Amino acid sequence: MAQQMGNQPMIVLSEESQRTSGKDAQSMNITAGKAVAESVRTTLGPKGMDKMLVDDAGSVVVTNDGVTILDEMDIEHPAANMIVEVAQTQEDEVGDGTTTAVVIAGELLQKAEDLLDQDIHATILAQGYRQAAEKAKEILEEEAIDVDADDDEALENVAATAMTGKGAESAKDHLAALVRRAVQSVADDDGVDTDNIKVETVVGGSIDESQLVEGVIVDKDRVHDNMPKFAEDADIALLDTAIEVPETEIDTEVNVSDPDQLQEFLDQEEKQLREMVDHIADAGADVVFCQKGIDDMAQHYLAQEGILAVRRGKKSDISALARSTGARVVSNVEDITEEDLGFAGSVTEKELAGSEAIFVEDVEDAKAVTMILRGGTDHVVDEVERAIEDALGVVAATLEDGKILPGGGCPETELSLGLRDYADSVGGREQLAIEAFADAIDVIPRTLAENAGLDPIDSLVELRSAHDGGDNLVGLNAYTGEVEDMSDEVVEPLRVKTQAVESATEAAVMILRIDDVIAAGDLKGGQGDDDEDDAPGGPGGGMGGMGGGMGGMGGGMGGMM
Ligand code: ADP
Ligand code: MG
Repeated sequence: MAQQMGNQPMIVLSEESQRTSGKDAQSMNITAGKAVAESVRTTLGPKGMDKMLVDDAGSVVVTNDGVTILDEMDIEHPAANMIVEVAQTQEDEVGDGTTTAVVIAGELLQKAEDLLDQDIHATILAQGYRQAAEKAKEILEEEAIDVDADDDEALENVAATAMTGKGAESAKDHLAALVRRAVQSVADDDGVDTDNIKVETVVGGSIDESQLVEGVIVDKDRVHDNMPKFAEDADIALLDTAIEVPETEIDTEVNVSDPDQLQEFLDQEEKQLREMVDHIADAGADVVFCQKGIDDMAQHYLAQEGILAVRRGKKSDISALARSTGARVVSNVEDITEEDLGFAGSVTEKELAGSEAIFVEDVEDAKAVTMILRGGTDHVVDEVERAIEDALGVVAATLEDGKILPGGGCPETELSLGLRDYADSVGGREQLAIEAFADAIDVIPRTLAENAGLDPIDSLVELRSAHDGGDNLVGLNAYTGEVEDMSDEVVEPLRVKTQAVESATEAAVMILRIDDVIAAGDLKGGQGDDDEDDAPGGPGGGMGGMGGGMGGMGGGMGGMM
């Protein structure tokens, strides 16, 4: 550290730290952000390709799911990470549209770079992009189509669209129906909480043997072999307390002066357990789910009463059972009454994925359901599960908002046309930014066409002229290559699109506004990584940590898939 002042520059940063400022910082960040977007671009749409990701330990994930790819890639560059966050926000808010959001963000950066080169200031750009995003939301809302909560067909179309190209293809209709039923079952006045839909995966069997259990599956077996395996028209008790004699009472010092006294003590304990079981039996319970332990002796008494009991149930299972059977969770066994009990037409211990589980079915109003997904191998089941998670998210969003948009680049075409008109009305330098935004949105139909092996220019021109002529439900069908009305088959919730535009804009703007990067240590993946080498492509290093599989992909990641 240089200490003397005078004419010497004062050094305030440590030697390891790195600083990049001005245009260099901007272009470094833009390049990093674009590289991330480029890495998922080829997976977009039903004809998008999959990626095989291999981690340090050699474990393999094969997926088409944007957010999964980015999570697995272990990206370290800070600006690149902002783009990864776009995918994560999208995943949290809607559960689908992650690739779309990231690809748009990358293209916004690309277009921004062109304008920065023309000396348009980043602040103007940011301003224009924000204005464009606001307008985009308005346009999307105007274009949205209303859907009723009981429009099964539309909801299944939404589910099927989210699953296309994700390894669930062969059983898409079957799975779409399961997803629609699952979401409808758990929907209530507050909307849809997809946490009430449990997804269990089973390796073995085929995808179309997947099923929906409208009730709860508890991953436990009954606590005692002498208990029944099945209860019909079952009254169900839920306890969040143990059926045991509280420890403190046993631990209090027992002065065993003679054997009778010990016996008396043990008898006393047994009597207490007997009483607890009697309370449960008197209330009329046929089945008990206990969140805590059940004493051996109590197990024996319960079995004698013909009660099926489960101990150490998960809290989440107990609350799911409460929701779906109407039982009240009891904390004090002495207080249990008939009113506390819930009801299920059938409670059965069955095998699930190689171990026993308790299926609680035929409930009046299944407010919690379980999907059992089957598939031939681990990789297949995992990818089907990701497709199902996306589908659950979009059907839930559709039920909540009641608005959908046609897919296949339809809303994006409408947006880019609408935004160009809007740009004209704004004028000034912002106009350029809004036009750039409009151009950036075209990346979606263009990429859908490219990934489907179609000519992107032809497709874009055809889409535009259709929309110009007032056919605003028209999109590009990736299967037929036709530009046609998509509204009664390929549809997505409005929220997927509004959220994608919003988070892509936020991330792009945030990255553009940075003109100084000060890193405490080595900026992994930054251009500083390879010393003198200031060529773009620096972020390649940022994808480190992918093990041998992806190391050194450099800028050309797209090309490898
Ligand atoms: P994301 O992670 O953004 O959801 P996907 O790979 O799921 O990415 O692709 C979504 C895009 O694919 C959407 O733009 C959607 O409209 C489009 N899409 C879905 N089905 C079709 C289809 N049959 N033809 C054309 N585009 C489709
Ligand atoms: Mg999708």
